[in-house]
Amino acid sequence: MYIDIHVHTRLRPGPPRRGRDESYASPEQLIEMYDEVGIEKAVILPGCNPECSHHVQGVAEVFEIVERYPGRFIPFCNIDPRQVSNSSDADLGYLMEYYKGQGCLGIGEVCANLYFDDPMVENLFRHAEKAGMIITFHVATQVGGTYGLVDDLNMPRFEKMLQKFPDLKFLCHSQAWWAEISGDVTEESRGGYPKGPVVEGGRVVELMRRYPNLYGDLSAGSGHNAVSRDPDFGYAFLTEFQDRLCFGTDVCAPSNRNDVLIYLKNFLEKSLADGKISQAVFDKVARENAITLLNL
Ligand SMILES: [Zn+2]
Repeated sequence: MYIDIHVHTRLRPGPPRRGRDESYASPEQLIEMYDEVGIEKAVILPGCNPECSHHVQGVAEVFEIVERYPGRFIPFCNIDPRQVSNSSDADLGYLMEYYKGQGCLGIGEVCANLYFDDPMVENLFRHAEKAGMIITFHVATQVGGTYGLVDDLNMPRFEKMLQKFPDLKFLCHSQAWWAEISGDVTEESRGGYPKGPVVEGGRVVELMRRYPNLYGDLSAGSGHNAVSRDPDFGYAFLTEFQDRLCFGTDVCAPSNRNDVLIYLKNFLEKSLADGKISQAVFDKVARENAITLLNL
């Protein structure tokens, strides 16, 4: 059985998503997909940042879903760094304590399109560290025209945050993060799904070795690409960081049953069957790390 560290769902799906002909998956559709592939439960990441969500979601909706389907979903809250007063001294702590009291186990997916070292983002990190809440975020390559916390090539701003907040657990996700797994990533390739052999010197590996508070969210095409583009590298990476990598899907819509729902699962199961990763590595990535990380 798997635990999905990263999913999105809406009780009332709303209009079709950006440039597609479908909206979000409902919890019922998600549970049907999960039962088919053996996913026991999932972390719901509310879509509250206007840059990302065409149909902005409140945390209250997530609580309703969690209550309606006992045992299947884990709530995260999502706190925008600009919330409360659009300033770097906003008291985001009281929000975090409130949501923690309601059962939220983390914050995210942070998609605000601000620099990692923007004072308001630092303020979010500072309060999250104090509240003992893990943060899931999306990384963007630019300001404007996209969503996610922004960094430059090789993630220098994020590294400053890792140093500044050693007790905050960062759960890293998205194309701009996972493309950094290879040392030959460029300004052109870092926003996508670069293929081919992983070259030594990638920042993902370097930062994961250096900072024990850094975790990898393997959801979506980007997480799957990072471990499968160069399978021998992928097996070694999964094995080296077996205690800090989590299975995830990032399913948003019903059609994701044909791609992100099964991509990583199939890769992990084949790696195990072929003897390329151990049963222990498989179990940790599939579910045990999520249990430890979230104290389930
Ligand atoms: Zn997501």
